[in-house]
Amino acid sequence: MISWTKHRIVLFLFLIILIVETYLVSTASIGLSLVIYTILSYLILLFVGSYFLELEYYMPVKKDLNNKKEIALTFDDGPNPEITPQLLEVFKTHGIQVNFFCIGEKLEDQKELVNQMIQEGHLIANHSYTHSNFFPLKSVKAMTEELRQTNRIIKELTKIENLYFRPPFGVSNPLVAKTVRKLGMQVIGWNLRSYDTVIKGEKLFKRLVQKTKGGDIVLLHDNHQDIVDVVERYVVYAKKNGFTFVKL
Ligand SMILES: [Zn+2]
Repeated sequence: MISWTKHRIVLFLFLIILIVETYLVSTASIGLSLVIYTILSYLILLFVGSYFLELEYYMPVKKDLNNKKEIALTFDDGPNPEITPQLLEVFKTHGIQVNFFCIGEKLEDQKELVNQMIQEGHLIANHSYTHSNFFPLKSVKAMTEELRQTNRIIKELTKIENLYFRPPFGVSNPLVAKTVRKLGMQVIGWNLRSYDTVIKGEKLFKRLVQKTKGGDIVLLHDNHQDIVDVVERYVVYAKKNGFTFVKL
């Protein structure tokens, strides 16, 4: 059965408009430029829909939590042999558990570290096998293989069947949507994008504090040193303000 995602509704409307416009152009009622503008607008919409996962343009995305006293910290692109252990130390000190969206290849390289993450109760989820720049351009077959391979590694290490996936770069398109549907996986987005790869230190901490509404899924990366201190300060701040940290 067809699910009426935003993308399909827009495509349907776009085709109707295009047919009407083509007819009007043929009767010389309107100029060709209007057709070109329509196509351009559609292409812009496709791009915006691909880039902003939170718009749920191609597929449903979990972006926040129901309980407004909870926060889920999510870390992409690890595990990292230098940064992740420092974060684990912080989480142990403050008695919280978080979510790691890991790259399959890195899981294979860091089995001992992953075992520690699991033993300390953190969630390990799928962030593709290679995190290749070309991931969004891959075929459904190739994407399926990447996701399955990473799920296999997660199963082997955690004994748990993982269903959570976060697309590399947060980029989505109809092929990503099809892959996820095929595998019955749930896409996890965010409602608080930290931009921690660009913003650092005090500025990053302030951004996190300002943007916290409760029920947030926070997007972070465990691949740069700066994150360790900022996350610790944020955890202290949030706990003081009555929030609890949860796994998805
Ligand atoms: Zn990533």
